[in-house]
Amino acid sequence: MAAKNKVAKKPAPKGKAAASPSASAKLFDKILIANRGEIACRVIRTCRRLGIKTVAVYSEADADALHVREADEKVFIGPPPATQSYLLIDKIVEACRRTGAQAVHPGYGFLSEKEAFQKALAAAGIAFIGPDAHAIYAMGDKIESKKLAQAAGVSTVPGHLAAIPNADEAVKIAKKIGYPVMIKASAGGGGKGMRIAYNDNEAKEGFVSATNEAKASFADDRVFIEKYIEEPRHIEIQLIADGHGNCLYLWERECSIQRRHQKVIEEAPSPFLDAKTRKAMGEQAVALAKAVKYKSAGTVEFIVDKNRNFYFLEMNTRLQVEHPVTELITGLDLVELMIRVAAGERLPLQQKDVKLNGWAMEARLYAEDPFRNFLPSTGRLVKYREPKPGPDVRVDTGVYEGGEISMFYDPMIAKLCSHGKTRDQAIERMRRALDEFYVRGVSHNVPFLAALMAHPRFVAGKLTTNFIAEEFKGGFTAKDLPPRDPAVLAAVAAVVQRIWDERRRSEPLQRLSGAAEARHAEQVLRNETSKDDRVVMLNREPVALTVAGLADDFRVTVGDRTIAISTVWMPGDPLLHGTVDGQEVAVQVDSVGSGWRLIHEGGQAEALVLTPRQAELYALMPVKAAPDTSKFLLSPMPGLLASVAVGEGQEVKAGEALAVVEAMKMENVLRAVQDGTVKTLHAKPGDSLKVDQKIIEFA
Ligand code: ADP
Ligand code: ADP
Ligand code: MG
Repeated sequence: MAAKNKVAKKPAPKGKAAASPSASAKLFDKILIANRGEIACRVIRTCRRLGIKTVAVYSEADADALHVREADEKVFIGPPPATQSYLLIDKIVEACRRTGAQAVHPGYGFLSEKEAFQKALAAAGIAFIGPDAHAIYAMGDKIESKKLAQAAGVSTVPGHLAAIPNADEAVKIAKKIGYPVMIKASAGGGGKGMRIAYNDNEAKEGFVSATNEAKASFADDRVFIEKYIEEPRHIEIQLIADGHGNCLYLWERECSIQRRHQKVIEEAPSPFLDAKTRKAMGEQAVALAKAVKYKSAGTVEFIVDKNRNFYFLEMNTRLQVEHPVTELITGLDLVELMIRVAAGERLPLQQKDVKLNGWAMEARLYAEDPFRNFLPSTGRLVKYREPKPGPDVRVDTGVYEGGEISMFYDPMIAKLCSHGKTRDQAIERMRRALDEFYVRGVSHNVPFLAALMAHPRFVAGKLTTNFIAEEFKGGFTAKDLPPRDPAVLAAVAAVVQRIWDERRRSEPLQRLSGAAEARHAEQVLRNETSKDDRVVMLNREPVALTVAGLADDFRVTVGDRTIAISTVWMPGDPLLHGTVDGQEVAVQVDSVGSGWRLIHEGGQAEALVLTPRQAELYALMPVKAAPDTSKFLLSPMPGLLASVAVGEGQEVKAGEALAVVEAMKMENVLRAVQDGTVKTLHAKPGDSLKVDQKIIEFA
């Protein structure tokens, strides 16, 4: 991360930590992190820099997790389900007692916004690195927090701020507000318990389903209704406040790129705000925070309409998933500031000192299959290589190569952030970093993220929260990937093959002679400027070309076009770094059979590099038919077979539900893709399934 502000400077020796003279002396000796995954690792990183010891807590599923490895001490707290481990307040308090931790950082999710947790820690004399219980309580309920916001002079979405008693009342209120409206669970979070209604019928149905979902998810069935803001943008203000009445706004983040009300891409600043709106939103957010004597980091979420009118949505009383983009543009370390204010320090800067430097993007990498309707994917990360971090690329993760993505928790692999002077530069760096992110073993959403980053409307900054729904109407398919140039891909494949062939030729020489001679021999071979005619079968389509090379520089002629490729790639490197016609590129290279798989911009291409003679023979080879899997219902992911809805001999219609597979705390309904008759059931409820395991066979 670019550390440009005083507070976030690299390892500051004790006592020298800027603004407050006795700063480090007052900080904690030991902090327990009541969380897991990337955010636990993130908090540990700052603690280490500040010279504070850390304690990790972990469930049975996390015994080998990265956050446990990175902490100074660890405490086991129970079985894998969060309700039996990470959500148990008593266990966490007990772990603090046992290890002598003086403070707890809750991360996000889990206990971070549970007032009872804050209270239990206070009773035990342990500091909570977050706001006080009263602020968590005041902001925990959407109806109550909106009333508070109104009183503090904050603009709120027009609506009816009271629990709706029944469906008829819901219709009456919806009509009064004017369609479209949004029906929302007052206790809601994580995008649950929300429905949009465009007419009376939808209002009635929305009321019933939102109420049911609220009851099931939050054990609180109160819902209310507000105006649905059309063409909405989600823009939120990051706050940081101390216990001495100081509160600053650290600009905004735009999080409009959402799938099912869940954020996918976040950026700072917002491409939509002007200085005046930014200031007004910042000041209103501060007014709200001051009204509840807010302390620590917090976020005030707004919905912004196309005319830049903004309305308060809710306040999140915790560190947010997407906080790194704010850190990248301000140079501040939010976790450090949270720790300092929790220890009683004053904020070391004033509003006028807050920098806004360049542009930052965050993409959330998930273990899910974007081509299969984003089904979660669990399993071992057989290969995991991050893009090179640096001042302009940041990776936050809680996984490692060989580790496991467990079905018990959030399937996030990593958060990838980029920074640039301009938005375009941040996007460009994000695209490159996505090309460099090498993940094998689980499905992941890099192709989807790459498609978003290359989407003209995204690049133009014309965002709304409906962006994904509008631009990927029928779901995400290979057609949505950024267009790639087949001539360039074929040229890269030809170069890869040439380097490979050269290596193979020079190896026997190396074995026979001494090192110096081998070096010389290699030089001779690599200096060869001979031209090779090749036919590259690119996704089974022939591309004829000529490749010539001098050391690490190659020239490939395709038709009347010459492509210059420069690379020091060696066989075995998963990534080919280099330039194509002077443009820097990163292409992932997997050796597959006697050919190559090239992965770039989220798309993959199979390439087989042949001599003209081989190509003639290849053209005569019969095409091998893919095995027919249409006769089976296969499990699209590892999980538990919860139920099977059909019996042997039964006829089914396309679209009919066949079975339910439980994975990642989600029920996934598998449906028939065509009409047919069930012949055999290969699995029964309760079975744990591997990916592609047969569940049903059709006649
Ligand atoms: P943020 O608002 O910090 O960007 P999100 O909006 O993605 O985070 O999620 C809101 C909160 O809900 C976070 O604290 C996150 O940990 C939690 N959360 C998100 N998705 C899930 C889920 N599927 N199950 C449980 N908790 C979740
Ligand atoms: P949660 O607690 O689940 O995060 P929010 O109130 O923050 O609930 O809403 C989540 C998302 O739903 C927002 O980011 C936005 O995309 C959408 N949304 C919420 N309220 C409205 C509204 N009144 N009009 C339009 N979109 C809304
Ligand atoms: Mg929200």
